[in-house]
This record gives sequence, structure tokens and C-alpha cells, in this order.
Amino acid sequence: MEEERTIEYKLPRTIAEQGWIGVTIPRVYGGMGMGHLAKTIIIEELSRVSAAMGAMVQASQLGVAKVIHFGSAQQKRHWLPRFASGESLPTIAVTDPVSGGHVLGMAGTARRDDNGDYILNGRKWFVGNSHIGDVHGVVLRTGEGSRGLSAFLVESDRPGFHLGDAGTYGGLHGFSFGELLFEDCRVPAANLLGEEGQGLDVAYSSSVLYGRPNLTAVALGIHQAVVQDTVRFCKNRVLYGKPMTDMPTINLKLGEMQSRLMTAQLTAYHAAHQLDTGQPCDAELMNAKLVNTEYALESARDAMHILAGRGLQISHSIERYLRDTLHLFPQPAPPTSNAYDSARSPPAATADSGRHASTTNARPDNRPTRPRPTCPNEREA
Ligand SMILES: Cc1cc2nc3c(=O)[nH]c(=O)nc-3n(C[C@H](O)[C@H](O)[C@H](O)COP(=O)(O)OP(=O)(O)OC[C@H]3O[C@@H](n4cnc5c(N)ncnc54)[C@H](O)[C@@H]3O)c2cc1C
Repeated sequence: MEEERTIEYKLPRTIAEQGWIGVTIPRVYGGMGMGHLAKTIIIEELSRVSAAMGAMVQASQLGVAKVIHFGSAQQKRHWLPRFASGESLPTIAVTDPVSGGHVLGMAGTARRDDNGDYILNGRKWFVGNSHIGDVHGVVLRTGEGSRGLSAFLVESDRPGFHLGDAGTYGGLHGFSFGELLFEDCRVPAANLLGEEGQGLDVAYSSSVLYGRPNLTAVALGIHQAVVQDTVRFCKNRVLYGKPMTDMPTINLKLGEMQSRLMTAQLTAYHAAHQLDTGQPCDAELMNAKLVNTEYALESARDAMHILAGRGLQISHSIERYLRDTLHLFPQPAPPTSNAYDSARSPPAATADSGRHASTTNARPDNRPTRPRPTCPNEREA
């Protein structure tokens, strides 16, 4: 997978069939109902071995989130058991090539026709699980302004839906994050996710509530691998007749790496726990993502210094850890950015930031709301 640089189709299915995509899915739908902390540990452990497969599980979780938080009773009954068992893999497709992380600037459209169906047109890229997904959660423009986006479920065999370029990337080899094309793709109104106009909420619930802790977990897993491999290398590499671990300067660097890893892990677990228990945690989620991605990168660079020429040898994986970590930075512009200004709607104020216990109902001032966190044993309403 790493050497061939091709999309891995079989391994994601095998992983999904273990039931791990179902970690945040309520038990009533066949999931584990264990929440964000357990999800963090699953993604971390997978990413320790393969960041590409950790990324696949994190992308699947984004797809799961939209159905848990915005799906109708029928959509939940249909899709959640399939995600939990690994029968179907979901995606969330928000980013388009022109607007990028400026979600409200997207060009793709969904127009309602006389039959009440929606006709979808647009192009999405950088979509996690793009070429292996069975159902895509696509956000498109149905009207003006910040309430003019809507989300739809699009099955991968639906006429008018096509796979585009798979993309060629420097890292996460094996992970599929390519292009999806919608050309007069007709979907019934029953495929609308949430209400018309809730597309921005769907997009941000994925990137904020799930995306941040998920990418944090991938970074944490890579960081674990960096420290583990570097310590092992230093124990085995003999210089001046002694293992490198006997050299004080090397030991100091290893200690710094270990310290960074422990701090990073604490921030990740703490933020996920806050999210699970419905406590304010915007700052914790952001900090955990920042600390984990920056520290993983710093430790990978230290590892490269320690291994010197050997760090560049593919067999030692350090160059892979460095490349893979760089893929964890891009995120959509946050709700407080000028994305809102340009849509002539009030900015998402910080008044409720972090209070993820809010409901998905529209707020009186029409600002976007966020779904409350997963309740492990949630019963179908
Ligand atoms: C591994 C990976 C997986 C991904 N998975 C998904 C997925 O599953 N679904 C999906 O829809 N997308 C996904 N993405 C896309 C990701 O969300 C985008 O890369 C991200 O939104 C940024 O968009 P962009 O890369 O086009 O950058 P651009 O939007 O072109 O941004 C370019 C630069 O401008 C800066 N910028 C943009 N807006 C502002 C602002 N308001 N203020 C200040 N600076 C700003 C950005 O920070 C950046 O530095 C994925 C990306 C990667 C790398």
C-alpha cells in the first residue's frame, strides 16, 4: 500500500467489519455507543501502524456523524446499522475546488424540480473515503446566504454521480481522498439530511465536533509510532561501542519526545472526555489538535535528526511519519471567519462556543447551531 501508492480497497472493509466504525453509533443501531474517547483510542491505535487507515476510520466517523446528528428516523434505521457492521462506508463531501475551506463560497447546487426531487450539480474534492464510500453526504447550495446550504445522502450507484480524479498525494498512501462529481444527479427529497438550509450545520458539526478530535487522534497515533521506533532504533544502534541510548544528548532528545507525547495524549483524551460528557470544549478541541499535530511534527523532525541518514531510508518509516503528519493540517475556515461576512449574515458569535450540549434546532437569531454530543445509549426518538 505504501509503496504502490494506490487506494486500498480491501483493508478498509476488513477494519470496518471489526465494528470499529460503530464506536460512536448508539447500541440501538448496532454500534458500540462508546463515544469520542473510545473513538480516539481506536483511531490512535490504527494510526500507530498506518496513518492512512487511521485517516480512513476518521473520515468514516465524519460520515457517521451527519446521520447520527441530522438523519431522520428512517435514515438512521437504514444507514447506522450498515455503518456499524462495516457493510457500508460513508463520506462527507463539503470542499469544492473553487471555494476550498470557505464553505459558504461553494459553487455546487441542488435545485428542487416539479416532482419534489433534488437535482444535484457540482464537484467536490479532497473527500475522505471518496473512492471507497457507499454513501456520500454532500453539501450543496439550495439558496442564498448561510441558510442556503443543504445536505444530501447520495448512494454511490445513483445515476448522475461519478467518481473523479483519485489524486496523487505525498502521504497517507492507501487512503482515498479524491474527487466526486454530480451531474444532474437526481435524489428524492427523502435523501435530504436534516432540513433544507441546515447544510452549514452539517458541515461544521463534522469538521468541529468530529474532525478536530479525529485528526488529533491520527496525529497522536503517528507520534506514538515516532517515539516507539526512535527509542528502539537508539537501543539497537551501537556507536563508540555503546547503544545510542547511552549518549546523554540523545537521551535528552528522547526524553523531550516522550514528554511531548505524554502532553499531547493528555490534551487529546481530555478534550474527547469533555465532549463525551457534554461540557464546553471548543478551546480544548482546538488546543488538542494544535498540540498533537505540532508536537508530532516536532518529534518526527527530532527522530530524523537522531536517525540521520537512516531516517531517510524507507525501511525506517520516519520519512513516512513526517509526510503523513503534514496531511493533518488543512481544515475548513472556522465559523468565526469572514466566511460569514461574505454571505452577509451575522458571524457565529462565541457566545455558545464550546457549549456542545446545544440542540440542532435553529436559533432565534438564525445563527448556525451545533448538535449535542453523542449520547452513548441514545434511543431512537
Ligand atoms: C487528508 C485530508 C482529508 C480531507 N477530508 C475531507 C473530507 O472528508 N471532506 C471534505 O469536504 N473535505 C476534506 N478535506 C479538505 C479540507 O477540509 C480542505 O483542505 C480545507 O477545508 C482547506 O481547503 P483548501 O485546501 O482548498 O484551502 P483554501 O481554502 O484554498 O485555503 C488556502 C489558504 O487560505 C487560508 N484561508 C482560507 N480562508 C481563510 C480565512 N477566512 N482567513 C484566513 N485565512 C484563510 C487557509 O488557512 C489556507 O492557508 C480534506 C483534506 C485533507 C488534506
